[in-house]
Amino acid sequence: MALIVQKYGGTSVANPERIRSLARRVARYKAMGHQIVVVVSAMSGETNRLIALAKELMPEPDPRELDMIISTGEQVTIGLTALALIELGIKAKSYTGAQVKILTDNAFTKARISNIDQHNLKADLDAGYVCVVAGFQGVDENGNITTLGRGGSDTTGVALAAALNADECQIYTDVDGVYTTDPRMVPEARRLKSITFEEMLELASQGSKVLQIRSVEFAGKYKVKLRVLSSFEEEGDGTLITFEEEDNMEQPVISGIAFNRDEAKITVLGVPDKPGIAYQILGPIAEANVDVDMIIQNTGADGTTDFTFTVHKNEMNKALSILRDKVQGHIGAREISGDDKIAKVSIVGVGMRSHVGIASQMFRTLAEEGINIQMISTSEIKIAVVVDEKYLELAVRVLHKAFELEEA
Ligand code: ASP
Ligand code: MG
Repeated sequence: MALIVQKYGGTSVANPERIRSLARRVARYKAMGHQIVVVVSAMSGETNRLIALAKELMPEPDPRELDMIISTGEQVTIGLTALALIELGIKAKSYTGAQVKILTDNAFTKARISNIDQHNLKADLDAGYVCVVAGFQGVDENGNITTLGRGGSDTTGVALAAALNADECQIYTDVDGVYTTDPRMVPEARRLKSITFEEMLELASQGSKVLQIRSVEFAGKYKVKLRVLSSFEEEGDGTLITFEEEDNMEQPVISGIAFNRDEAKITVLGVPDKPGIAYQILGPIAEANVDVDMIIQNTGADGTTDFTFTVHKNEMNKALSILRDKVQGHIGAREISGDDKIAKVSIVGVGMRSHVGIASQMFRTLAEEGINIQMISTSEIKIAVVVDEKYLELAVRVLHKAFELEEA
């Protein structure tokens, strides 16, 4: 007997028929003698609908009230899922985040889980119930409803698996695993049987949407055995997120390519090159809670320096006005500009540790297509470049081919 957490995303609970199919899968696992915790998202499109509704009344909705509204999608699906299970003759009980006691901080709309009370769930599991838990939501110390950020049901699933010491956390979605890149962009993309936790973390942080990044961080921290599977198929092993690198000579150097259209580039030109400049530019940006991703600084022959960094597209204007109002005059920068017509492409693979020449192969491949690289950043297992957004698809396709990631 194993304890398994099964998380189902929005397309897996999109309508009564999908929920019935989910319930039949849970029934099969139950019949094998396993204990099952089900975590569900809202029906697909529902969270977006609720956000739009809130914005009709207040363009920048109050965060506490927004969480009150957008947490309701999951309250509907836990009830429906429990009904579908009961209808199949299975003992089932639904739980909101507050009923489990998924305790979070009070950072509304992006709260972090601080503790999970596993007492009630354990008692019900031992009494033979399937526990159906609302994803995405928690409760703060004062009883306020919080949410965990878009895609946060993945994190609920993994966090529950960690708290309950589950044998496996299965993430059911509308794709049958993690692919070498998005198959909608590159039809030759191949499903990976397994991928290391570190690679998954890089792919998620570089724009792959398969798993919410916080869920991957959680899985890493608590060593949760995680598998991504399709809820549209009866069979299939999906993709296992592993903690060991396979000792496999055939293992390709690059495991996957991620991309991201959400960033914008900000350039501060002609800054006097002296200590404290980076801090004077980025300090006010950080204080305004704007996340910075890539950073480049280059000193020219004339003793001034150019400073470039990327932020989320939605925050470009905010960052530009902070720099123009508070920083430019102060540091004596010649010019400040923003560009949101960029895209980031990243190749990821633990094989980079033991192979040389990967960066030059990447740069040559892009050069052969006449694609200009605007920024570069690297980690031990990743190389990311910023290019003009109109070359994004081409870049991903030629890199996918150059690193031989297609279906064999
Ligand atoms: N329903 C939430 C969202 O759409 C959480 C989730 O689906 O994971 O972001
Ligand atoms: Mg999701």
